[in-house]
Amino acid sequence: MRLMIVAIDAARPIAPRTGGTLLINLHSHLEGRVRPETAAQVARELGLPDADRDWAQALQLERPADLTEYLVKVVSSFPLFSRLDYLERIAREAVEDAAADGEDYLELRFGPASHVSGGDLDAVIAAVCRGVADGAAATRMPAGVVVAALRSDPTEANEAVARAAARAAGRGVVGFDLAGDEKRFPELERYVDAFAIAGSAGLGLTCHAAEAAPGRAAVEAVELLGATRIGHGARIAREPGLMDWFVERGIAIEVCPTSNLYTGAVDSLDDHPAARFARAGVRVVLGDDNPRQTGSMLSREAEVLREDLGFDDRLMHRMAEDSVAAAFVDESTRRGWRDRLASADGPDVAPLRDVVADGGENGAARAGG
Ligand SMILES: [Zn+2]
Repeated sequence: MRLMIVAIDAARPIAPRTGGTLLINLHSHLEGRVRPETAAQVARELGLPDADRDWAQALQLERPADLTEYLVKVVSSFPLFSRLDYLERIAREAVEDAAADGEDYLELRFGPASHVSGGDLDAVIAAVCRGVADGAAATRMPAGVVVAALRSDPTEANEAVARAAARAAGRGVVGFDLAGDEKRFPELERYVDAFAIAGSAGLGLTCHAAEAAPGRAAVEAVELLGATRIGHGARIAREPGLMDWFVERGIAIEVCPTSNLYTGAVDSLDDHPAARFARAGVRVVLGDDNPRQTGSMLSREAEVLREDLGFDDRLMHRMAEDSVAAAFVDESTRRGWRDRLASADGPDVAPLRDVVADGGENGAARAGG
């Protein structure tokens, strides 16, 4: 197992996004994308007692830990999100950094209830949507906002978040998620109404599941909450036969390999199930989760797939197709991406069942959006 930490260079010029590959980021948290220099400036303005600390070091995890420790690190940056103008700036810079990383699309998720305490959820969501729209306009990279409910929050608070997300549907918000500590709050029943509210507004539904809880948790996220995508899902592969259930339903798994190492969802990158998912015919899409905490942005995660997990050109191309199908975007964006993939000089990609040894009879389930 090789673990490489790479510094994130926000000053890097925007990479050209041409050619056959698409780099689509479907799992990334606003709270994990604060630039250290922005953190320092905001901390000084807020008069935080530790404003002069080394923010790059303060934000990044030193070593793999567990989900609770990982989240404590993420939450420690929450004071930086305490004003609307900071939220807007951090969101805009997140989009700029993703474009500089060579990404073609960023779905940026965040939990509005954690920010601007006692504040107006609509205003918090609007501020992030403004930042994302500005970043997208400046970089010409499309981006969307996914609003997250939080496992540790009261049911009524999460339903208020869902209603606010629903009001912002079509105005920057494209999806709804459940995030937070699955280890401490594993059960999903109490989020059913929140997901129903978001789903009826036309938002795409995803859910962090089977990251710290057994694989069955991801089945419940689909059956109870209506999720069409699963965040992480690392433990699905530990239960024999369970992957077929996801293949049959065309559910995409948002894999974030380096994050999974840092949260203890996998013991080593060699153990990461992304390749097993792909070879079984499960839709695999990619995210970088909290790149400031792990030091690894999406382009690096794509390298991890290739170098550590054995993804070849065919599997990378298949992942791009699955990402196009699973992204919470409008149909014209999806068509544009499909045209790009079709016209690319990529590998001559046969149906997955023909290119993998154990693909089973499930190729047909992969057709359609
Ligand atoms: Zn996540």
